Amino acid sequence: MATDPPADPRDRVIEYAAEVLRQHVPDGDGWCLGCSELWDRLVFIDQCQQARWATAVHVAYAMPIRQAPQGDGSTDVTGEDRGGEGL
Ligand SMILES: [Zn+2]
Repeated sequence: MATDPPADPRDRVIEYAAEVLRQHVPDGDGWCLGCSELWDRLVFIDQCQQARWATAVHVAYAMPIRQAPQGDGSTDVTGEDRGGEGL
C-alpha cells in the first residue's frame, strides 16, 4: 500500500500536500472531514491549518511558474532548465 516517498524533497512535499488536500475536505456543512477523523475536532475548512498549508504548497510548487507574467508576444524562454546540475 505505502510507496516509497519521492527522493526529491520538493516532490515529497508536493506529494504530502496532495495527500492532505485529499483528506482535508469540507463536508456538506463546511466542517473539515480530515480534522474530524484525525482528531475528532470540528474545524471549519477555512480554518484548517493543514488544508491551508497544503494549498500554499500546491500554489508555490505545483503550479507552472515558467510563464512570464508580462509580455504580449511569444517570447522564447531561455534557460528553462533551472536544475542545479552545473558545477
Ligand atoms: Zn483539516
